Amino acid sequence: MARAPYKIEGVEIKPGTRQTVEIPVAKLYTHTPLYVPVEVVHGRRAGPVLMVCGAIHGDEINGVEIIRRVLRNSAMRHLRGTLVAVPIVNVFGFVQRTRYLPDRRDLNRCFPGTESGSLGGRIAYLLRTKIMEHVTHIIDLHTGAIHRFNLPQIRAELKNPETIRMAEAFGAPVIINAGLREGSLRAYADSQDIPVITFEGGEALRFDDVVITSGVKGVIRVMRELEMMPQKKGPRAPRKRSEVAASSQWVRADMDGIMRPLARLGQQVTKGQKLAMVADPFGEVEKVITSPCSGIVICVNNLPLVNEGEAIYHIARFDEIGEAEKAMDYFRDSMDTDNSDAVMPVHPWDEEQK
Ligand SMILES: [Zn+2]
Repeated sequence: MARAPYKIEGVEIKPGTRQTVEIPVAKLYTHTPLYVPVEVVHGRRAGPVLMVCGAIHGDEINGVEIIRRVLRNSAMRHLRGTLVAVPIVNVFGFVQRTRYLPDRRDLNRCFPGTESGSLGGRIAYLLRTKIMEHVTHIIDLHTGAIHRFNLPQIRAELKNPETIRMAEAFGAPVIINAGLREGSLRAYADSQDIPVITFEGGEALRFDDVVITSGVKGVIRVMRELEMMPQKKGPRAPRKRSEVAASSQWVRADMDGIMRPLARLGQQVTKGQKLAMVADPFGEVEKVITSPCSGIVICVNNLPLVNEGEAIYHIARFDEIGEAEKAMDYFRDSMDTDNSDAVMPVHPWDEEQK
């Protein structure tokens, strides 16, 4: 029996076809209508319905490129199930190059939203009723905040077995067992028993090829794991790809000043190790910032001008640091071999770079 068409916003997408659909969200005060663009790839055969979305924070643009590359992947021809790609959720923020909405709300704190609520609540409501209520799995793509560069990592609440399966399949070097923040897309999805993982990598308003490549690979790996795409031939990767962090901790500057970073992204650090120096412009007063714990650096602040209290490094702690190092080694090796479509040649976690 032929598979039923996928229905969204009054459009019917036949099995074996793909189509871009525009969901109207609001009008700008210029009277210009604004849409959230969605591409639906509806496979010939039945299977999971996966939503992959990006830029819910409007300045986190790596996800847009990840989705573009996934959609152009040749294995999409063999898709089983349905891919619902929403590259730009926060269209307002994306146009304005900002994380937030015009009313300065964070869209990722507006779920589940209502039809008559704030602008954020209305967009959340639209996304929820038009898309999320009709999907079986979700991957939400994020980057670090502005000037903060995240090591590719998965955040998920590791309770639902299907969520764990997705988190492991993605293959990012670090998995953070992250609680659900009220109002987030992830919290809403979880409340509806939709398995959901968040990918974090790179920084706002920048493309980074290593991050994008690892995001594309991760999404495709999850699709293979969910049998939406054929498995790769040959034995499964014998090497360790991911390690779950026991916890994580932010390291903050304890004085205002100009920072000289010493630790690199992805580096293993020990408790008490020097991470950075902060000095006044003359170098007369200088403070060392040390690591409060042993672990792996999963986020660095790239802006050397810091205020007291500013988050500078994020360190993930592991019960078995050796296992985390193995995952980091796998990540570095896998990124060396097929980094073909380089956008940005400098990778802060390169061993060569000092
Ligand atoms: Zn974000």
